[in-house]
Amino acid sequence: MPVSIPGWTHVSSGKVRELYVSADGEELLVVASDRISAYDYILDTPIPDKGKILTQLSAWWFEQLDVPNHVISLDVPAEVEGRAMRCQRLNMYPVECVARGYLTGSGLAEYRQSGTVCDLELPDGLTEASRLPEPIFTPAAKAELGEHDENVSFERVVDMVGEEVADNLRTTTLEVYSRAAQIARERGIILADTKFEFGADREGNLVLADEVLTPDSSRFWPADQWVEGQVTPSFDKQYVRDWLTSAESGWDRASTPPALPAEVVERTRQRYVEAFERLTGVTFTA
Ligand code: ATP
Ligand code: MG
Repeated sequence: MPVSIPGWTHVSSGKVRELYVSADGEELLVVASDRISAYDYILDTPIPDKGKILTQLSAWWFEQLDVPNHVISLDVPAEVEGRAMRCQRLNMYPVECVARGYLTGSGLAEYRQSGTVCDLELPDGLTEASRLPEPIFTPAAKAELGEHDENVSFERVVDMVGEEVADNLRTTTLEVYSRAAQIARERGIILADTKFEFGADREGNLVLADEVLTPDSSRFWPADQWVEGQVTPSFDKQYVRDWLTSAESGWDRASTPPALPAEVVERTRQRYVEAFERLTGVTFTA
């Protein structure tokens, strides 16, 4: 449930974030909760500090990247200290701008059916976790809450936002991915894929928005555990997924998942902290 914050009006609840708008309508307060999702469900059990970790990791990445971004300030109301950003309110493009350097997940599924990802032809012989010859732009159309985002071709993006913006989204996505992947790689982490969201400011300039390069929007793989042909354990939700699908949880995948045991919560929290600390080199303090 969103808290009430003087001077801000709550406007929407996402899967993970709560959005508030300033009195003049110009600013957004983006508040990251401790909610975690797995297998398309938002779980009943929160992961303590997750919202703070993701907010601080996003803020760190925005500073490393040299593209215009939506952050105004981390100076936020006390109610949401450490877990929120004041951002420029943008006109968002309804495109999930995904960049992939490695093949897995929905990309691999499409490749196995058709040899393509988002209609892009890929070479034969690729498999789970294969490194792609070069990073590719594989956009998805943003789905309604509770629905799966749908991978789409570049032509569909052109239909949605026009050719100039589509080109700009693709170029910027690939540039930011490459820069981030290089930074992560220096820290022993493979950025297998990631999703960005962009909006336009009043002048129509492209601005990087939402969260960036967090374990929720990206697949981070410990580089020393990557083996082509094998599923690489992701940095964050592995314990949650493993437990949910184990006999112990008794979960049938159709109903709401059960509450997580304390040990799974703590180990998952540790993984988020570890991702933050390995990437930023900074010790996390709540
Ligand atoms: P998920 O990310 O899990 O798909 P979601 O996108 O529905 O879920 P959240 O990520 O929890 O929801 O909420 C963030 C919302 O805020 C998104 O709809 C995103 O497009 C929007 N948003 C992010 N930055 C801005 C911005 N600067 N201006 C306007 N809207 C923004
Ligand atoms: Mg989102």
